[in-house]
Amino acid sequence: MSPPLELSSSTLGSAERRERPAFAFVAERLWLDFVNTDTGVRGADALHDFDRFVLWLEAAHVLDAERSATMRRRSEQQPAGALAVLGDARRVRTVLRALAERGVFAGDVRLSALSEINRVLGRSAGTRRVELRGDGSFARAFVPVGDAFAGLLIPVVESAADALILDQLGRVRRCADPRCGRVFQDETKNGRRRWCDMATCGNRAKAARHRMKLHA
Ligand SMILES: [Zn+2]
Repeated sequence: MSPPLELSSSTLGSAERRERPAFAFVAERLWLDFVNTDTGVRGADALHDFDRFVLWLEAAHVLDAERSATMRRRSEQQPAGALAVLGDARRVRTVLRALAERGVFAGDVRLSALSEINRVLGRSAGTRRVELRGDGSFARAFVPVGDAFAGLLIPVVESAADALILDQLGRVRRCADPRCGRVFQDETKNGRRRWCDMATCGNRAKAARHRMKLHA
């Protein structure tokens, strides 16, 4: 069961709140990184509270620092709206996890993801832009008009829509470590990527193999 929705982590002091949580982006696709936000260690779920969700969107380059600050201000003015966004984001995440794990062989899972994607897309009006980032690279951006919250999930569901349109579900894998639960897009030539992250799960597996060799 999901913990109750919160606007901001009441358990954290203001100093800790300023300290940015470290989010992992290992999945090669925004929608899969979004799915992976539910596998964080206890209390690290990026959808735990609205502030943290905004930090995640910023870390994912969906929001720039300025828009992220606007969202936080807006959430203080419209707490109910912010909580609704958070609940909606969790609902989308559940559907997208099913798409990542079973979408390639289950038609009904693809269809329910499709209607969820269209539900989010259909609700939001805004402007598309291409923006120049601080590091000189370019990125697509969506600037919502009217309800500022409505557009927050657009880039995530568009990324999932691309997986359907480009027929990429066959390349979506689950980390080979059963305790991990992260998903990712396998971009290797031979299609044999096994671990979400070589630095964590991959390394653990290597160490375990090494130990087995020593004891063999
Ligand atoms: Zn893993």
